[in-house]
Amino acid sequence: MEKGLLIVVSGASGTGKGTVCKKLLAEIPTLYYSISATTRRPRVGETDGVEYFFLTREEFQRWIDEGKFLEHAEVYGNFYGTPAHKIEERLERGEDVLLEIDIQGALNVMAKKPDGVYIFLLPPSLEELSNRIKNRGTESPETFARRFKSAVGEIETGLRYQYAVVNDTVDAAAEKIKAIIAAERCRVSRNAALFQNLTNSKEM
Ligand code: 5GP
Repeated sequence: MEKGLLIVVSGASGTGKGTVCKKLLAEIPTLYYSISATTRRPRVGETDGVEYFFLTREEFQRWIDEGKFLEHAEVYGNFYGTPAHKIEERLERGEDVLLEIDIQGALNVMAKKPDGVYIFLLPPSLEELSNRIKNRGTESPETFARRFKSAVGEIETGLRYQYAVVNDTVDAAAEKIKAIIAAERCRVSRNAALFQNLTNSKEM
């Protein structure tokens, strides 16, 4: 059996990674979402073990010491990490795994897992990016300016990914990612068994 796909959706802050990933998960029920761990506090409506594993800094450090993370990074003063073991288990079973992580995290995963599918989400314009960061509503003017500047700086990193998807509408972005997944499944390198079966056939 071929291994599942490791699909990494990443992009600058405010490009709507979370919303696009929610849409993908709703539309592809077999996709396994890797729940990250974080030291940030839960927002209203978030549940431990659903959106994130919410850890104290001490617990997070213990997970690092125990080698539980595939990658971890500090994002705006909080720590975030991708637990490793479930991902490998699922991929081995042939299941596709979705990671929604920041750029530093994605670059770390890229170094460890070069056969993953790395998708960079782009905002349709800088104006739209600015609106999206503002509309989060939680930003003070200083935080907004810091996030916007850093988001613009992060966009260049996208040149290191394999796929660029403009998030003009959530539906269109999700459709494009579904097309990427379908194409990735058809890669010759992922279909060795098909070739083997056909070329070893004794019939005809
Ligand atoms: P939020 O706190 O708004 O849920 O997420 C903040 C940022 O952390 C987002 O850019 C999100 O993609 C990123 N993030 C979430 N989980 C992880 C993770 O496991 N590793 C890394 N490196 N970033 C993450």
